[in-house]
Formats: sequence, structure tokens, C-alpha cells
Amino acid sequence: MERIRYEINGVVQGVGFRPFIYRLAVEQHLNGWVLNSSQGVIIEVEGSVKDLRLFDRRLYSETPPNAHMTRIFSEKLEPAGYRAFEIRQSNEEGIKTTLILPDLATCDLCQDEVFDPENRRYRYPFTNCTHCGPRYTIIENLPYDRQYTTMKAFPMCDECREEYLNPYDRRFHAQPNACPQCGPHLEFWASNGEVIVTHDDALILAGLAVRGGKIVAVKGLGGFHLIANARNEEAVQTLRERKNRPHKPFAVMFPDINMLREYCEVSGIEHELLTCSVAPIVLLRRKQALAPSVAPDNPNIGAFLPYTPLHQLLMTELNIPVIATSGNKTDEPICIDENEAVERLAGIADVFLVHNRPIVRPIDDSVVRVINGAPVILRRARGYAPLPIEMEDELPTMLAVGGQQKNTIALSHGKRLFLSQHVGNLETVAALEAFERTARDLENIYEITPQVIIADKHPDYEARKFADRQTDAPVVHVQHHYAHVLSGMAEHLLDGPVLGVAWDGTGYGDDGTIWGGEFLRVDDDGYQRVAHLRTFSLPGGEAAIKEPRRIAFALLYEIFGDHEWGNFTSEERKVLHQMLDKNLNSPRTSSAGRLFDAVSALLGLCEESTFEAQAAMALEFAAEIIPHARAYPFTVADGVIDWEPMVKELLDDILRKRDVPYMASRVHATFSHMIRTVADEVGEQHVLLTGGCFQNRYLTETTIREMHRAGYTMYWHQAVPPNDGGLSIGQLIAGARLMQKDKQE
Ligand code: ZN
Ligand code: ZN
Ligand code: FE
Repeated sequence: MERIRYEINGVVQGVGFRPFIYRLAVEQHLNGWVLNSSQGVIIEVEGSVKDLRLFDRRLYSETPPNAHMTRIFSEKLEPAGYRAFEIRQSNEEGIKTTLILPDLATCDLCQDEVFDPENRRYRYPFTNCTHCGPRYTIIENLPYDRQYTTMKAFPMCDECREEYLNPYDRRFHAQPNACPQCGPHLEFWASNGEVIVTHDDALILAGLAVRGGKIVAVKGLGGFHLIANARNEEAVQTLRERKNRPHKPFAVMFPDINMLREYCEVSGIEHELLTCSVAPIVLLRRKQALAPSVAPDNPNIGAFLPYTPLHQLLMTELNIPVIATSGNKTDEPICIDENEAVERLAGIADVFLVHNRPIVRPIDDSVVRVINGAPVILRRARGYAPLPIEMEDELPTMLAVGGQQKNTIALSHGKRLFLSQHVGNLETVAALEAFERTARDLENIYEITPQVIIADKHPDYEARKFADRQTDAPVVHVQHHYAHVLSGMAEHLLDGPVLGVAWDGTGYGDDGTIWGGEFLRVDDDGYQRVAHLRTFSLPGGEAAIKEPRRIAFALLYEIFGDHEWGNFTSEERKVLHQMLDKNLNSPRTSSAGRLFDAVSALLGLCEESTFEAQAAMALEFAAEIIPHARAYPFTVADGVIDWEPMVKELLDDILRKRDVPYMASRVHATFSHMIRTVADEVGEQHVLLTGGCFQNRYLTETTIREMHRAGYTMYWHQAVPPNDGGLSIGQLIAGARLMQKDKQE
């Protein structure tokens, strides 16, 4: 007889881990107990040496599918004389190091039950089990027990309790377990919040409303969606007008993978993404047209599948593709509360399909795009958050507050970097409130007090202002593009030296100008700006970002002085000339993103934009038609890449009326070749692509191809977004490096 005690860390709560241990112990004739503690799962098993050995082997080989053990500590003890094996009450002492699981898409077994007329959960929209269902969106506190979730308001009925207590049941300790008798229910509300019908009738009326061209606000897992018939142009147009969103593409939810395949090209890896337990929005190539306003001038669709029984029931009812866009106003967080939604979405939604299971925190749908055969997370939210990025070494405990756009927050603890869900652009009061809540929430749930707070260098970033207001920990400021490079290095566990190509729209540079076309050589000592794009002016600052033709105007002014290009009134022309002449409100930038914008305008693809990256996307879509093209000329001297020869030859091509796709692909080839040329000069083997520009699949793939041919080892983002959503991770690494240095000195 022997006794062994295990302490297991990782994703081991809410995934059927304890029942798995229970079954294993009973099958191996072992006595003892298992319990959830805030550090993870603790097990004591007692029995014969042979049975214990088998238990240990099966612990590794039969781990439940969603569980993920990151650290296992075991020790041999004197036998204690246990009489049976039992699952003990959760132990709430100790530091919280256990992982919180993200929300998981409905599993096949639950889906079968929901569509089985004989099952007691037939058509029940809140069906779940230990393998699927809400987690992060309902957790108020650790450990993960029903009393610390928003399901505490729903006492289980006898049948549900029996399932919950039976270690052989799929719902054993499924914290959100519920059924039509005891769980949450649906309600269908008029625009003023008046209840029209409830339960299954609510679902049916909501379906009819969508079919009838109405815009329906649906409370889902991490917040509200606005849903409209994606084949009904009038309905989609109405949604665009009401949301004041003229062009930015809408995501489309399809009833099932078969219909999705009729509309989109789906590769093997994309199929896997769409149908995995994350069920993100995947950017796919469109095959068949939907209503034109779904994604104007865009060859792609952001497509996804229903991921809760509620969505599955509604979509089966509808059997058409629908727009499913975040239920919010521009730059505000998504609504999570039905009473608040009635106010905030007034004038946008016609009717509301809501339920009474509270959502603790807003979680958007995640967005993924496959680039060079690998999934790249562009928006990290539902299904991914709050899983950490695991590092090799321990880091000090720190809080990083991210950037101004696509904000995320990150927290380091031990070897883990916890990256928050996408918070969004910090441009509205509501977004700022959500940002502060997320920062507090991360600290509270893990009960961590950061030793240092890290923010961007930009003095006007709201996240930085927040950091500077904190008094309980010192604040350090980190250069934007350095953080971008470090974020990529973190996810690939790179130490450096690395040549980081950090290309994006805007980031505050060390010299006070706007950077964005940067080559940073990063090693243990920090970073060196080894090259950058030649700078140019942004006449009107923010206004130039919304009006790429102003940037094109400035580029030509930079080259030729006075010129006649562009559709401007003589008054506009005069103002632009004055601004550029006298350097009024015309910040200088080396931004690659803005150079893309300018070229897009020169080609007549996008002169004015209504959403971020619209001009650059238009250039990418134009280029995709032609896979290979010759680069335009450019020069590199003293680390400054001069785009002037490129712009001049491009103008020649425009005058000769060459095809736009031809010119667009030549521009992309030029950018790839700039990277190659600088890399050759710097002579670093490892090259990392980071920053928002590398959301551009064509640019990223062309560059990787050219660099591979030249023998470089290439890294690009996957788990951490390449855009500013990844900044907070890089900021943590920068913070750790600074503290390390302080210690050494
Ligand atoms: Zn399930
Ligand atoms: Zn029940
Ligand atoms: Fe950036």
C-alpha cells in the first residue's frame, strides 16, 4: 500500500477533470479524494503500487479533451487508510494560479439533445455540459464553482442536481448546468423593453422578425449581436445607416458548415478553425454574393458558425445567412445587459431577443485569418481569452495597459502572461470604463498586485493617462514599435538578436514624431532603430488619416513642390499648400500604413475612408489578382528607405494607364523588397514581422516568400495579434527586461 499526492496546474477546472479522476481512481481500485483549489486540482490516491502506477499512466494518456495540464507535482506519502474515493468541497485558500477557461462552443452531444424531441432539453437554448458552454463570461470569482458564477441565481431542479452530482454523468459538476425547469429562459421584447412573449415563442418571433427584414438585437454569450438577413439588401442598408457604419464589413453567421461552404472557399485549416471549440470569425474568400452592403468592395467574408444552442436554434429556424455584428455603437463596448441594451441600442434594433442569465464581462467574437498556412488571431476574445501565453522563465508581477486602438490589457504572473479579451478603441467614455473594469477585473480574479505598470510612450493615449494616475506602483513607458517586436518575440519564445520589422499606422517615436515604418534590431540590451521609411507630412493630422488623398497630396508635394494632382477644390488646394508650406498641423511620419494609404489614393482606390485600414485593404484586394510582380525602385541610404523612386515610377504607370491590380501588386513587391534589402544590410538571420500592416495577407505572404528564398528564418504573429491588440504582451516583456537590468546594476 502506498499514498500519492498530486497537485496539478493548468486548465483543469470546468473541463470534467474531477469526474475523470474519480472514474480513474475507482477503476484502479484506489481510495482517497480529489478537490478543486484555487491553485488547481489536488488529488490523494491510495492503493497497491501496481494500481497507482496505472493511475499515473492513465492520468497522462486519457486527459479529457479540453483539459491542459501545465504543471504536475507529485509526492509519495504514508498511507492514511482511506475507505473510499470521494470528491471533496472546493478549498478556497491560497494564491490563485489556476487557469480560467474560455467559453466553449456547444459540443456535439449537447447539440444532439437540443434537437431531439424526446430529450428533456429539446429546444432548450442554455444546454451545456462539462465539455462545452459558458465559462469566462459567467465567472465572478475563482474557484470555478456555481456559487461564484451568474448561475447562482438558478437553483438546480432535482434532475439537474442528480446529473451534477453523478461522477458518471457528462454534467457532473458542470457549473452552468440547467434545463427548461430550472434554468434561464428567453424573452422577446419590443424596442421599448416591453415583454411580448417568452420561452420558445420568443425564439420563433425573433426568427420571423429577421425574416421580415427587421434588425434584431440578440443577447448571446459575451454580449449582444445585431442580427439582420444577409440576403436582404434593404435590411443590411438600414443597419448600416442606423449604426452609422457606411463601409466596414459585417460578419456573417451561417446556419451550418454546408451553407457556409456554398458562399465561401474553405481550406482544411479554415474548416478546423470554424468548427473547433473556439468557433471564431474566420476571414474567408467569398464564392457567392450576399446582399452587396454586407461587405462592400471586399472579396472576403468574415464568416462564423452558431456556437451556442441559442444561436443554433435561431439559425436552424432561419436557415439563411445573417449579419451578426457586435451590439454596440461605434467605439463603444458591446452591450451585455438587456435593460441597458434597450437604451444604448435604441434607434438601431427594432426588437430584442434576451435572456436572464447575466453576463459578467463583455467578450466579442474572435477574428482569425489564415496567413501562410497558419491561423493568425486578429482579434483575441471569445474562446481564447483569458488563456495565457506561457513563457520559459518567471516574470515579475506586472500590469501592461496596452495602446489606444484595439486595446487589450495584460498581466504577468509567474511564467504566464494573461492577455485580456479585446477591449477596443479607447475613444469613448463607455470604452474607457470598460478598459478600467478590465484592468481591475484581471487583478481581482487572480488577486494580483502588480509591482510595475507599463504603458505606451504616447502622452495622449488614454491607457497611458490611466497608468500615470496609479499611485500604488511605479509606471514605465515603452516605445510602441519596440513593444510590437517584443510581443512577437514572446509568442515565439525568441531571445534575440532579431530584426523586427514593425509596420503600422501610428506609434509615438522616441524623437516625438510618428513612427510606423520601423526596423528595430532587438537584443538583450534593448533596441536600435536600424532603418525606417523616409518621413512625410500628414496635412491635418487625424484628418489625413480619414482622407488618404491628403497624404498622397503631401507625398507629391514632398517630391515636386507645387502640383496639380487630385480632386480638390481650389480652396482645399490652397489650404493644403499652406499647411505643408508652413508646417501647420502637419505632423511628420515614417508610417508604412500611411504610405499604403497614400498609394491607395494615388491609384484611385480609396480617397476617403470611413474605417481604419480601408485604403490599405483596397490596395491589398487589388493586388491579390496578380500573384507575382516586379518591385518598383527605391533607395536605402543611412538607414532611410526612400520611396520617391517608387512613387515616380508609379506615376508613370498611372499615366500609361496600366491596370490597377498590376500596379498594386508591384507596390506590394516593392515593400517586400525593402524588407529584404534592409535585412541584407543588417545581417540578422531571424526576422520578425509585426504591426497592423501584417494583417495584410498578400504583403505578409509575399514578404515571407521572398525572405525564405534569401535564406532568412521568418516569424510572424499567430497567438498574439500583430496589431495593437498585441502591444500589452510586448509591454510586459519590456517591463521584465527593465527590471532585470535594474537588478543587475
Ligand atoms: Zn456539451
Ligand atoms: Zn433543471
Ligand atoms: Fe501599432
